[in-house]
Amino acid sequence: MSRVNLLDLAPADAEQALRAFAESAGVGAYRARQVTRHLWAAPAPDFQAMTDLPLDFRARLAESFDLPRLALVAEQRSTDGTRKFLFRLHDGQTIETVAIPDGNRVTLCISSQAGCALQCSFCATGLMGFSRNLQPSEIAGQVRELALLPEPVKPTNIVFMGMGEPLMNWKAVSVVLTILNAPEGCGVGARHITVSTVGVLPGIEALAQRPEQFRLAISVHAPTDKLRRMLMPVNIKFPLERVIDAAAAFARRVTFEYVMLGGVNDQPAHATALARLAKRCGAFVNLIPLHPGGAGSFTPTSTEGIQRFAAAVAKQGVEVAVRKSRGMDIAAACGQLRVERLRRRPPRTADQNGQVQVP
Ligand code: SAH
Repeated sequence: MSRVNLLDLAPADAEQALRAFAESAGVGAYRARQVTRHLWAAPAPDFQAMTDLPLDFRARLAESFDLPRLALVAEQRSTDGTRKFLFRLHDGQTIETVAIPDGNRVTLCISSQAGCALQCSFCATGLMGFSRNLQPSEIAGQVRELALLPEPVKPTNIVFMGMGEPLMNWKAVSVVLTILNAPEGCGVGARHITVSTVGVLPGIEALAQRPEQFRLAISVHAPTDKLRRMLMPVNIKFPLERVIDAAAAFARRVTFEYVMLGGVNDQPAHATALARLAKRCGAFVNLIPLHPGGAGSFTPTSTEGIQRFAAAVAKQGVEVAVRKSRGMDIAAACGQLRVERLRRRPPRTADQNGQVQVP
């Protein structure tokens, strides 16, 4: 019989499975809670390391349950303190996680898919094509692995801005949101967890139905369908108008992400049109300097150009911020470390992406 992977389960479900097991093993049901704590809240690398449990019970747990690890294969450290980790999964796929310290905060940027099907024209992950969805244990496992380092990294904030489109892997991401947020899980407040999407409409609806205050960020990147279609092919399936309507219907505050592409989407008319969209759904606009080393032959908008664009958006009464670029020296933008390692395999075509899943 195959072992149950405890890290694929929401903490309450893991505890329930463990409770039944503890009963059948003839140990107190409270042991189930102890084990559950060692999954996320006070993580143990394996059952042997759960030294507050009887030795023979630990051995029996290992026979029935799995606690899979992700193999850390590379780490890069930026002069600004940003750290980028590359993990290898059981089938050889590699995924990236970035830890960004900022004052008292540590933001983890996690991956939700191996590769990505969406092929946004400036994004390194899009270049490698889509490999597969990640399991909950592989998504939340990124957070767990950093907590298991000799000097544990504990996040105050988590963003789904690594590789992949989280709302095309909703089933797993939904479990991960519970794991990250639950007090008996990682205990990160829902307001400190942001799901970033190109605008997968069924996924936005599913996220909106969660009672917790999880944040939604939308990768807008262009204020018109015509331009957005060119930059983001997904706009054909989920057009801008409908994405903005979904953002307006989302009960909580939405953030727009807008990557600044020199001469492409950074003209005064773009600022005015973007501000109009933001007003329609009360969004906060985050301007992102283009990370060089993505895809395509784009040039970043100059710092002054970004400031001018920000001022033009603000003038329309919209809240806007320029995101600090971090980890410039370590290829920290979406997908870049894996791309460096893989030396660019040809991207897979859309019809090879049969596994892409929409809720
Ligand atoms: N698929 C999701 C989440 C992953 S990408 C989404 O698109 O929102 C996270 C953010 O990084 C997105 O806004 C994406 O457009 C942006 N990004 C990708 N490549 C970039 C680059 N080279 N420079 C700056 N931002 C980039």
